[in-house]
Amino acid sequence: MTHPHDRALPRAVRQAMPMARDVLQEVAKLHGVCIRPVPLRRLDIVTGKSEIIDVPCGAVLDSKCPPCAKRNRQLRMAQCREGWHLEQEPAVTPDEPNEEQRWLVEFRADMQAKRDAAEQAGDDTTDLDAVLAGLDEEINAAGMRGSVLGRTAPKRTRSTRRRQDAPDLPKRKMTHTTLGRTFQAPDGKTYRPSLFVTLTLPSYGKVRDGVPIDPDTYDYRRAARDALHFSKLVDRFVQNLRRVASYDVQYFAAVEPQKRLSPHLHMAIRGTLPRAEIKQIAAATYHHVWWPQADEVRFDGDHLPVWDEEAGYLDPATGEVLPTWDEALDQLDTDEDAEPLHVIRFGEQVDVQGVLAGTPDADQCIRYLSKYLTKSIGDTLDGGQAQREHASRMLDALRYEPCSPTCSNWLRYGVQPKGAKAGMVPGRCRSKAHKPEHLGYAGRRVLVSRKWSNKTLAEHKQDRRTWVLEALGQADEPTDPHRYIWRPVPAGDANVPPLAVRLLRSVHERQRWRAQLRELEARAAGQDLSATEDTGRAA
Ligand SMILES: [Zn+2]
Ligand SMILES: [Zn+2]
Repeated sequence: MTHPHDRALPRAVRQAMPMARDVLQEVAKLHGVCIRPVPLRRLDIVTGKSEIIDVPCGAVLDSKCPPCAKRNRQLRMAQCREGWHLEQEPAVTPDEPNEEQRWLVEFRADMQAKRDAAEQAGDDTTDLDAVLAGLDEEINAAGMRGSVLGRTAPKRTRSTRRRQDAPDLPKRKMTHTTLGRTFQAPDGKTYRPSLFVTLTLPSYGKVRDGVPIDPDTYDYRRAARDALHFSKLVDRFVQNLRRVASYDVQYFAAVEPQKRLSPHLHMAIRGTLPRAEIKQIAAATYHHVWWPQADEVRFDGDHLPVWDEEAGYLDPATGEVLPTWDEALDQLDTDEDAEPLHVIRFGEQVDVQGVLAGTPDADQCIRYLSKYLTKSIGDTLDGGQAQREHASRMLDALRYEPCSPTCSNWLRYGVQPKGAKAGMVPGRCRSKAHKPEHLGYAGRRVLVSRKWSNKTLAEHKQDRRTWVLEALGQADEPTDPHRYIWRPVPAGDANVPPLAVRLLRSVHERQRWRAQLRELEARAAGQDLSATEDTGRAA
């Protein structure tokens, strides 16, 4: 079989490098080939062979190239479709970790070591931190619960007063099903209605086309804090939903950016509740952020806490040791007048839509749910000057907001961050939440409940595995999970060919698979044909 493109491209690449490169990228995209592959060294402990292999960025990195993002979106749509109108209870059995899960965890360990080494050497760890964060998400996406690091400290027992109060909602007896009710039509047909819910944060001031009409009165601080804690509010909503619904409600949700740059939530819910009840639950749902105060600036400019190996961070003027994170929380617990740092609620805009399985409506909702999955929160900027200025004011508001207990911004408010170490400077936290792409929301973009669809989870994993193996040019056969040891490849390693060469190889591989597939299909069709002929002769 001849592939004129294969022959033409390398020559073109040699002769006209810049232009051909662009073409190559486009060709790679057309073939669904990852255009930012991550080279990894793979040691085969059976054969002792060591080679460098390109893994699609979508499999290991947080930020995905367009082809990987597209593939990811397609997988997510399939997963959403599977679980929404499920008719049979998914059988949830904690399964053995599979090869991909083991691989991810092993790779995570390697990358952690690399990151720690870089930190020790005083190198910039931004990229490696991004890789680790991406891997943690992948680890969860691959069907593993919790964090690979587990709980590193005993869980704090909070005084009763600080617990989240239960909102004023009816509590019904729970039945052990994840399926919603069905309805029988007079003609005997069974209907299985489900819900599509959109939840939005409150107003921070009037906006037009996503831009505040009066930036001076727009509540950027509130917008920033709401974005930072949005995922906790979503958790509360699900808890409350289950209390009221009387069955084990399952959902597939996507966190997406609004034009005004705040996150909002689209949620496909299996089963149905009265619209008024969903609105009641949304209105009653809130989350208290019991963190130390972050409104009164204690250290700023040149007047910053200083690090002491023994004691931690000290007040530069008095030498007084700042309270540690745990001490600050203890203090909160004993203070009768303490108020939560922040209270987050949804806005009044709650959209509830009933959806029937298999209708065009359902399809449209699924497309809607995954519409923004290929974009980051900050990507919705369509380029207007006013919107860019709005985004930059939002970033300013986020700059000194503590994003987590470990955020270096706590020093500004006189508290040592959890796990304090040398070199922390307020305003320079490297966490995702402070970055323009995330604008405060650093959580996962797709939230899928555990019993959404057991079947899909398996299929989903299979898809993902097939994808990785396919990209590695391997057959999807079960192999000994401990056969390979993966190592990151240092930047600039002479053994890694230039990106263009690697893309060309991937495109070629992809074409070869396509050709093989077509051949198999043709052969299968031929067999069908001869089968018909046989029957014809027999008759
Ligand atoms: Zn990619
Ligand atoms: Zn931070």
